[in-house]
Amino acid sequence: MKLFEYEAKQILRSYGAATPRGVVVAQGEDPLTKIREAGLTGKLVVKAQVLVAGRGKAGGVKLANTPEEAAEIATEMLGSKIKGVTVRKVLIEEAVEHDREWFASITVDRAARDFVLLLSTEGGVDIEEVARENPEAIIKYHIPPERGLLPYKARELGKEVGLRGRALNSFASTLVAMYRAFIDHYADLVESNPFTVVNDRVVLLDARMIIDDSAIRLGLVKAEQDPAETGELSEWEVRARRLGLNFVELDGYVGIIGNGAGLTMATMDLVKHFGGEPANFLDIGGGASAEVMKKALNLLMEYPKAKSIFINIFGGITRCDEVAKGIVQALKEVGARKPVVIRLVGTNEEEGRAILEEAGIKAFTDPAEAAKEAVRLGGGE
Ligand code: GDP
Ligand code: MN
Repeated sequence: MKLFEYEAKQILRSYGAATPRGVVVAQGEDPLTKIREAGLTGKLVVKAQVLVAGRGKAGGVKLANTPEEAAEIATEMLGSKIKGVTVRKVLIEEAVEHDREWFASITVDRAARDFVLLLSTEGGVDIEEVARENPEAIIKYHIPPERGLLPYKARELGKEVGLRGRALNSFASTLVAMYRAFIDHYADLVESNPFTVVNDRVVLLDARMIIDDSAIRLGLVKAEQDPAETGELSEWEVRARRLGLNFVELDGYVGIIGNGAGLTMATMDLVKHFGGEPANFLDIGGGASAEVMKKALNLLMEYPKAKSIFINIFGGITRCDEVAKGIVQALKEVGARKPVVIRLVGTNEEEGRAILEEAGIKAFTDPAEAAKEAVRLGGGE
């Protein structure tokens, strides 16, 4: 999950990094009151809290000469759209006078099985552009996971991008702070583009963080953000997430429920193989209960893109009787508003089939036949 700039900055500050002083203003709040309460004066920057690339260029970052002007800009920005995403919050910060801008990021390098730190003296612009046109401006360092980012190494890197003296000390501690925040939050990315130096102190003007969704699901890190607010998920993905379901919206017409990501993806492939188009990905996971199955089926019954529903279960730790109970309960509650095709094999298969048969439902054993039937009932060939 991508965090908003203000959330990333809040986390990074808690590790000792410096950011400009600022205040978050949400839709419905009075910007000028918030600015005054926060004691902000002079030139300010108003920044739309939206998770789109190139926000600045799209009009999401604006400079104001006075708090009154900043309030006006904020009022205009709140509720407007930046690249199709509604602005629900803005971050108003003291405009930091500066001349140079740097870039720093830490990401996971899966191929190298470590973390990679990128540093550049050309911050503020698109880093891909720098990589293309001026690759020597980018320094790359692979952080050994067993040792982490050591302060002496951070200092060496700082020297390479032209920092000296107290600014270099500040840079080293900022970089280590970024690294610690990265590790503690199971992040896929921590980035600052740009950061600058003011009075020998490194200040992060912009910050981004992406946290691995599994870390949130496992409760390793807390997500305070409401997924509905990010503008990243569709309405149906938000609904699914609130139900605790792992759902991705697609553009086809065959609704899909599987247990395990691999089987669910293979199910999508099967549907495509027989000429159909999946309407979604929905993985109820290993060991799913009747309750989870019921929720998943209810959701797809309401989800308008799915014209037919294909449930493909291979029971390992998932028990077929639990799944069957969930299906029967869901059909009882909301009714079979659309055709449902079930393929059910594995643990407690007999019990599962008996439960379905009692409710007058037939289940396939062959996934290919089931896929064909789901495509046909969905209106495909
Ligand atoms: P992005 O477009 O989403 O990456 O937005 P940024 O937060 O990086 O802002 C875009 C640009 O606005 C930066 O590259 C800076 O040049 C400038 N900027 C951002 N914050 C400040 C600030 O506090 N003071 C000043 N003077 N410029 C800023
Ligand atoms: Mn930026």
